[in-house]
Amino acid sequence: MTKRTIATEGKEWSILMPYGYNGKILHVDLTNSRQEIEEPSQEFYRKYMGGSAMGMYYILKDTPIGVDPLAPENVLTVMASVVTGSLISGQSRVNVNARSPLTGAIGDSQSGGFFPANLKFAGIDGIVVTGRSPKPVYLTVIDGKVAFRDAGHLMGKLTGEVEAILKEELDDPKIHILQHGPGAENGVLFSALMSMANRANGRTGMGLVMASKNLKAIVVKGTKKMEMADRDGLKAIMKAGPGLMKENADVDDCGTFGTGACMNVHNEVGAQPFRNYNEGQWDRAVDISGETMSDTILLKRDTCYACIVRCKRVVEITEPPYEVDPLYGGPEFETLSTFGTYCGINNLAAVARANQTCNEYGVDTISCGATISFAMECFEKGIIGLEETGGLELRFGDAEVMLEVLQQIVTNSGALGPVLSQGSARAAEKWGPEAADCLITVKGLEAPAHMPQWKKGLGLIYAVNPFGADHQSCEHDPNYEEGSTDLILGHLAEIDLKEPQQPESLEPEKVRFAAKTQIFYSLMDTLELCQFVWGPAWCLYGPSQTVDMVRTVTGWDVSIDELMRVGERRLNMLRAYNAREGFGRKDDKLPNKFFKALKGSGPFAGKALDKEEYERALSLYYEMADWTEDGVPAPAKMLELGLEWVEMPS
Ligand code: SF4
Repeated sequence: MTKRTIATEGKEWSILMPYGYNGKILHVDLTNSRQEIEEPSQEFYRKYMGGSAMGMYYILKDTPIGVDPLAPENVLTVMASVVTGSLISGQSRVNVNARSPLTGAIGDSQSGGFFPANLKFAGIDGIVVTGRSPKPVYLTVIDGKVAFRDAGHLMGKLTGEVEAILKEELDDPKIHILQHGPGAENGVLFSALMSMANRANGRTGMGLVMASKNLKAIVVKGTKKMEMADRDGLKAIMKAGPGLMKENADVDDCGTFGTGACMNVHNEVGAQPFRNYNEGQWDRAVDISGETMSDTILLKRDTCYACIVRCKRVVEITEPPYEVDPLYGGPEFETLSTFGTYCGINNLAAVARANQTCNEYGVDTISCGATISFAMECFEKGIIGLEETGGLELRFGDAEVMLEVLQQIVTNSGALGPVLSQGSARAAEKWGPEAADCLITVKGLEAPAHMPQWKKGLGLIYAVNPFGADHQSCEHDPNYEEGSTDLILGHLAEIDLKEPQQPESLEPEKVRFAAKTQIFYSLMDTLELCQFVWGPAWCLYGPSQTVDMVRTVTGWDVSIDELMRVGERRLNMLRAYNAREGFGRKDDKLPNKFFKALKGSGPFAGKALDKEEYERALSLYYEMADWTEDGVPAPAKMLELGLEWVEMPS
């Protein structure tokens, strides 16, 4: 807390108040319909700062070891950070954590939009949810007032319908809603949480955890604006934004063409996953690129609270057969990839329609599209036949069939829905060892569209990341090569990365790059910062500006070392959770497919990861992280990070 003087009733009062945050965590016990506000100390906020670090504090303290992910005891946390709601780009994000029903490891997902900032404006910094309500309810937090309301009438409704019903019911079009969709009610293991019907906390099945608690939605709204310690200092950082964007082609392209701008770049390099990661290049990928979307179905660009980048897409298609409603946004690069190139589909309208279906039902587009492409490969190879598919010719390139399977998944119906709604790893258990060779999962989580054959350091982080293969958990290798721009290399030098590497290297310096930038990314999932705006390399603002921003918002005299320590703390908390559940080196495994030569055309055709090189890099990574040979945070590391209170396996 910071001593501040406020004037009221004609007098000046000196009181203790925080800058940047509310100092309030809402605890909700759904079993007993109870709620309580906790006011943690400033020390707590400075140590954990927000996001999944703050969430993991409660999860590690209160979740029983061995908990069933769908049991009332599985603690679910929804956390903003000490800087969420400040007036600068890329700060309106929220993190959701719980044990994942998809992987059994810790679950973790972030999303942006307006819900996160409005959670803060409603007067709280985060929510800890326990128990299970006897009947469906939704929670409202409006200007500090908390209430449970009946949600029976919302069940089975699409996310856009729930948005409309709640805005009318609460007579307020400005409320912000985080909800699970009917996909979770149908038992889809990779169910997401949605806000605005188009922003997803997509990964690791957090929607299903919330549904298991009979909590349909969280509604927030507030009039409180966050106080900044140094408003002018923050304004100066904000004002620099447009100029920095003009000078930074990567961020500018991200705004102009959306994340789909990656498609042509990856494809040209030969590392755009095609046909379930069997090939890395496709001459039709351009048809579903961000540039093509801008020229055809893009209605407008959208943004998150206070962000100048405006990378979000809103698309509209009015012609059959694939009409798309702008309410559901537009496909991101990962979605264009999983439903597009993974499945060999270059029909942009069909991919945009698949995106809408996922958003309507609240399911993760990465796991969903990748699970369909996995099933397509199984069918093409004769591992499954018409009996398993219910008569569908499940071939790469067939948009109609892709959409039919998607519908079966989100409704958990038909021949394939009950199998594929459980994710590809469980489907492979059913379909046998040949199917397992078609998987692209790590810890049961389907891999996003960044190929480790090109980005070996990222591949290593896919393996060690506590919640499975994730592309936003470290910086990508091509940014640490000679030839990277001065801007990027300058940012990286601020966190002591000064020796750019050869392409496709997995030498010790590359492992150090992966490990160090992983910690910076972990910090961003603690401060809840958008990784297209803040980051250690290509983004709008680099490490030193991140320090300045945290200082101006909170008034804390933080250093880059202190912030890196916060990121390291989060990573070790996630990893400690997994260790308690029996996860270790045996789970830090990349799929077999990545070690087999890529087929098709392009510079990476014929290339594969090398098992020995990868195992060496893994051991070195553990050493750098101060983890045991089994990948468990060592007691000395836990002590150093102030985490000695975490119960660990003996
Ligand atoms: S860059 Fe895009 S995703 Fe990130 S905060 Fe801005 S609009 Fe949102």
